[in-house]
Amino acid sequence: MTTISAYAAKSEDGKMAPHEIKRRALGEHDVQIDIQFCGVCHSDLHAVNNDWGNSNYPLVPGHEMIGEVSAVGDKVSNFKVGDTVGVGCMVDSCQTCEACDDHLEQHCLNGATMTYNSKLKDAADDEEDITQGGYSKQVVVNDKFVLKVPKNLDKAAAAPLLCAGITTYSPLHQHGVKEGMTVGVIGLGGLGHMGIKFASAMGAHVVMITTSKEKAEDAKKLGADDVLVTKNEDSMKKWQGKFDFLLNTIPVGHDVNPYLSLLKYNSTMCFVGAIEPLEAVNGATMIGGRKSLAGSLIGGIKETQEMLDFCGEHNVISEIEKIDMKDINDAFERMKSNDVRYRFVIDMQSL
Ligand code: NAP
Ligand code: ZN
Repeated sequence: MTTISAYAAKSEDGKMAPHEIKRRALGEHDVQIDIQFCGVCHSDLHAVNNDWGNSNYPLVPGHEMIGEVSAVGDKVSNFKVGDTVGVGCMVDSCQTCEACDDHLEQHCLNGATMTYNSKLKDAADDEEDITQGGYSKQVVVNDKFVLKVPKNLDKAAAAPLLCAGITTYSPLHQHGVKEGMTVGVIGLGGLGHMGIKFASAMGAHVVMITTSKEKAEDAKKLGADDVLVTKNEDSMKKWQGKFDFLLNTIPVGHDVNPYLSLLKYNSTMCFVGAIEPLEAVNGATMIGGRKSLAGSLIGGIKETQEMLDFCGEHNVISEIEKIDMKDINDAFERMKSNDVRYRFVIDMQSL
């Protein structure tokens, strides 16, 4: 067991402060990682504020980790000391159920163990019984949940790939986004900006759908071919029925009907953002246009590795603002007021 420094929220006021946590002694399939960078996801903010009603305190968030392997267990063969690796939203699953067999560990029928705020049924004596995340110096993870990070990618800017990256890559990939399709990405934040980059790398005509007129120029630089500002009614009319696929990253419940009317017949809008109730959907729009609503949760480990390899090949990384650990409370405030361009990444040396 090792005691390490971290930053935790102690209650649902969400204020982050220094804290110490225990990491288990290295098991034979474990990889010990010295965390160098950790991205700040809107889910971290939801979790520290107990927005989903399931937060356990003290809570150490962080599921976009990049670091260097500092030790490996006896039976680990695919990682060695010094490797640059990543850890995302999951750290374990049963590995025996149908979902795990299908490489969809996030849907493990026995419950995947998430990187933080997951209760462990069989915690070792020397570890916490609730998982604690990457706003910390070090982590110990089963080798099946450790990812290889292509060497050509900047480490800090690659950290957000571990959640924002896979969460947008997976639905675009699963819904067959390709050249010739018009794809709308709704909400230009951490997830949305990765959505633009991936949809554009997959060859689609990409439209950024935003509430913020002032983000238009950035959206184009990120790879959007067009920008639709939702507050402009004429633009909303112009784009009605034009989209083959919509990726919706809005972080709160909202009226989905104006977005549904943007879809072509026989097309899908996939939610990744609002993990909460949505306003009523008009059945007439759905039935009349044979439209579908879908959802998507991160991605399995195999697909996450594929996404990282795709990023290595296409040089896809996140646009980041590096911060020190002590500035996390300001970063959360800025995230709340939609002032992030487009992902905060904590430099863990500052802890
Ligand atoms: P973020 O960086 O805060 O970006 C969210 C963006 O949504 C904002 O930049 C804003 O873009 C838009 N927005 C915010 N409030 C809005 C509102 N009331 N109405 C319309 N648009 C609004 O957040 P993020 O890190 O990308 O995360 C987005 C959501 O995804 C969070 O709820 C997070 O918990 C969730 N998430 C889900 C998964 C998954 O597996 N499904 C994984 C990670 C995160 P504009 O200024 O362009 O309008
Ligand atoms: Zn996340």
